[in-house]
Amino acid sequence: MEFDTIAAISTPMGEGAIAIVRLSGDDAIAIADKVYRSPSSKRLRDVQSHTIHYGNIVEPETDQKVEEVMVSLMKGPRTFTREDVVEINCHGGLVTVNRVLQLVLQNGARLADPGEFTKRAFLNGRIDLSQAEAVMDLIRAKTDRAMNVALGQMEGRLSKLIKKLRQEILETLAHVEVNIDYPEYDDVEEMTHRMLVEKATVVKKEIDNLLVTSGQGKILREGLSTVIIGRPNVGKSSLLNSLVHENKAIVTEIPGTTRDVIEEYVNVRGVPLRLVDTAGIRETEDIVERIGVERSRKVLKEADLILLVLNHHEELTIEDIKLFEVIKDMDVIVIINKTDLSRKIDIEKVKEYAKGRPIVTTSLLEEKGIDELEDSIGALFFKGNIQSHDLTYVSNSRHIALLTSASKAIDEVLQGIEAGIPIDIVQIDLTRCWELLGEIIGDSVHESLIDQLFSQFCLGK
Ligand code: GDP
Ligand code: ZN
Repeated sequence: MEFDTIAAISTPMGEGAIAIVRLSGDDAIAIADKVYRSPSSKRLRDVQSHTIHYGNIVEPETDQKVEEVMVSLMKGPRTFTREDVVEINCHGGLVTVNRVLQLVLQNGARLADPGEFTKRAFLNGRIDLSQAEAVMDLIRAKTDRAMNVALGQMEGRLSKLIKKLRQEILETLAHVEVNIDYPEYDDVEEMTHRMLVEKATVVKKEIDNLLVTSGQGKILREGLSTVIIGRPNVGKSSLLNSLVHENKAIVTEIPGTTRDVIEEYVNVRGVPLRLVDTAGIRETEDIVERIGVERSRKVLKEADLILLVLNHHEELTIEDIKLFEVIKDMDVIVIINKTDLSRKIDIEKVKEYAKGRPIVTTSLLEEKGIDELEDSIGALFFKGNIQSHDLTYVSNSRHIALLTSASKAIDEVLQGIEAGIPIDIVQIDLTRCWELLGEIIGDSVHESLIDQLFSQFCLGK
């Protein structure tokens, strides 16, 4: 395939003052040579592939220095995009990096669309679609654990599994075909039925296994939605602040939409939490009334975990009890705060209302009990069946939707056989399952879907 040469600013993973201007395409090296000057006057087109060079970026007309750089040069196809790639490493601030980008754009490169580097890698056969999507997840991954899932997917773990399933389906379809066209035995129909049921059951089980892990994958990617509730002044905002200060707050790229709740991303014992403090809603109003407000009710409904804060220094109130009712079907950790003040709360009563859910006592003022709280958050999350990072998680909503449809198609195969529907009809559902799985790895995907997917990527990837 032939493409023009694209360029974009691409900051490396992790922190650092270095920003990279990346070029990819047939003219990448020629364009870089126009703006690069090495102390020894060597040209990039003469150097070996996969080497890095010191020099300056200059205005080609005036030879005026713009930035001191390290340039790495990688000739295709041994690159991410399989094209010639030049990376100009700038240590200066945003202004100089932008200047360097402008220069390569003026000298023949085109500004890359979001995700276009990854799209080229896909179109040039370097990666399959699920791997391309994993790159996107990797960019968005908020904790080490989520990163491992995305990495595993990029290495093609999910792809391998999907390919294996598709192969099994294909073989089954072929087998059915042969049985129908060349019936060797009298009972060929019954045998074919039996084989179909057997294979379809195996495939269904594997798809459903993948789907079971998908909930965990979503949590890893988006964070466990954790809502802090309690009466005014019990210490909700203090709790949010302690959790944020004790743990590295995770920087989120989610755009700042207006909302009346405060949100923070933190990593607690390896569990990514999206903390929501409902205290952002005016605290003068009655809390239960506030929960009646559509938006906070929605926040509550979508919560994976509730942190209910009570006051150690006051008796339980009707409001507290109403809150217990509101959250009766949810995962809750009860926090009795202000233990530095004398106890007025009836702990036995709290236990009754908590119905076996964990109760932690804290003094946020004296920074006590926060460790215990974090332990119980960790315990709650890992009581599920997450055992290690090297499971194949499905964490992408498009994959989940496709797997769900594939599982349904298999159900129809099984029901069809049971109902005595002719084999060639049953085959259609099986073929459909094969196609759906193919969409996960990018076989049989429409052009528009590809464009839509890649436009979600960050610029420069
Ligand atoms: P919110 O209204 O539930 O968000 O409560 P805040 O976090 O704003 O806290 C209300 C007041 O209680 C503030 O003055 C805090 O300093 C205080 N506070 C929070 N935690 C503790 C605690 O553990 N002990 C004591 N004595 N005061 C606390
Ligand atoms: Zn507050």
